Amino acid sequence: MSDCIFCKIVAKEIPAQIMYEDEFVLAFKDLSPQAPTHILIIPKTHVENFLEAAQHQGMNDQIFTGIANLVKEQGWNPNGFRVVSNCGSKAGQSVFHLHFHLLGGRELTWPPG
Ligand code: AMP
Repeated sequence: MSDCIFCKIVAKEIPAQIMYEDEFVLAFKDLSPQAPTHILIIPKTHVENFLEAAQHQGMNDQIFTGIANLVKEQGWNPNGFRVVSNCGSKAGQSVFHLHFHLLGGRELTWPPG
């Protein structure tokens, strides 16, 4: 999608600190980190949210496989991180290209705001 900032990151038209990449997904550091570890994992294909992703065979699985590969590759402690996706503006979604936030490296409280 031509005016989507995350599509531009996928196309390498704008820079990002890429942490993981495979055929289907890209993971990069959030510009405005909310925790010592704050990575965004996105599908390379533009979809707005995970409900739309469910219409693409295997896409949500590919994202979660990418997250697991990233955590394994980085050697992060699996005891203490959170994966969250804001679905819609009322939930705080501000970029309408599906992304999962991976947050860790500090105590994470519940419920989130
Ligand atoms: P959300 O509010 O759930 O849609 O999350 C969007 C996230 O994208 C925010 O945490 C932003 O800090 C992050 N973000 C926006 N633009 C960029 C960018 N160019 N590179 C990295 N992260 C970004």
